[in-house]
Amino acid sequence: MAHAREHHPDFDITRSWALPLTPPPGEYESLEGYLRRIGFTDEQIHYTRRSFANASGDSPDKISAIAASEEWTDTEAGDGDFRVVGGYVRMLDRLAHGLDIRLNTVVERITWGKYGVQAQTTLGDTFSGDAAIITLPIGVLQSGSLTFDPALPDDKQATIQSLRMGPGMKLVFWFDQPVMPEGIGAFYSAFNPPMIWSPSVGRDVRGQVITCFATGDYARTLHALGEAGALEAALQTLKTELGLPDLTPTAARWINWTADSYALGAYSIVPPGAHHARPALASPTPPLFWAGEATVKNAWGATVHGAYVSGRRAADQTREFLLRPQMSS
Ligand SMILES: Cc1cc2nc3c(=O)[nH]c(=O)nc-3n(C[C@H](O)[C@H](O)[C@H](O)COP(=O)(O)OP(=O)(O)OC[C@H]3O[C@@H](n4cnc5c(N)ncnc54)[C@H](O)[C@@H]3O)c2cc1C
Repeated sequence: MAHAREHHPDFDITRSWALPLTPPPGEYESLEGYLRRIGFTDEQIHYTRRSFANASGDSPDKISAIAASEEWTDTEAGDGDFRVVGGYVRMLDRLAHGLDIRLNTVVERITWGKYGVQAQTTLGDTFSGDAAIITLPIGVLQSGSLTFDPALPDDKQATIQSLRMGPGMKLVFWFDQPVMPEGIGAFYSAFNPPMIWSPSVGRDVRGQVITCFATGDYARTLHALGEAGALEAALQTLKTELGLPDLTPTAARWINWTADSYALGAYSIVPPGAHHARPALASPTPPLFWAGEATVKNAWGATVHGAYVSGRRAADQTREFLLRPQMSS
């Protein structure tokens, strides 16, 4: 990135996003609209679309400028990236220790009321409790594949509909020898997919794995091509960018979160006008409590640490609810 900035002044917008924020973004303004208003050139917008908005989960014309500015100016969550040694499963194993976790158990109906909650699965099992914490992805909540009986309050339904899952996919290629130029671990492509890196760099592995990542309109375009078409398009991008026309992978895989019916997108995004939606989604509707990455404030939304703190918050709310003094009749 520093290299790109040295070569082109238009690239002098960094991950720190030190935007002036004066004038402030408008209530219904998209990030792209705001950046144009404060003087971003077409080329800078193009670059924004390609790089930073990619990590924000959707194209900048679809993201709330207020939500984006809150995300960039809130330093509470830190701005470093870390790899969990041994993989995320180590964290999950610890959190799940001693709990009765049922995998491959799809809930299709939640009946709730003063008496408590019943979750009915597609296999016909019913799980009952005094309360439940809902952590479903926003795409699943919007899809209607799961019914709430009685229906959720109108304001909760409106909140759910006001957020959106950003489309996202990875196209992963395995080559039997290194294909990245020496000393390069990642780059932004001029084509689609726009973001490319090798998780093999710095590791003692045979060959090289290359990950291509696309969100927003880039992902929509690739999604429309289907699996074979998207892999072909991504391979073509690699051939062009790396200057290797005969590049042939030994294996290839697409991971398309939009096509996964238990995700229906990569992570939540806040469309223009919906910047109050995350805290509204978090608001309890006892005996239902709400957690998951979409329920935390903008700087934490769409992240693992956000999902984690939301779970702790919802657990505290649930405990308080369960321990509340009961009215005697
Ligand atoms: C490509 C990609 C890259 C990312 N990179 C990062 C990163 O670098 N750093 C970071 O912090 N975050 C990253 N994230 C985001 C992070 O993965 C999510 O924010 C986080 O996993 C959300 O956790 P969650 O518990 O809210 O939702 P999920 O992890 O989506 O959990 C929801 C669960 O509900 C289940 N479910 C769905 N429907 C049903 C049903 N009907 N019945 C029962 N269960 C159901 C799903 O199977 C899933 O297990 C990335 C996400 C993607 C897709």
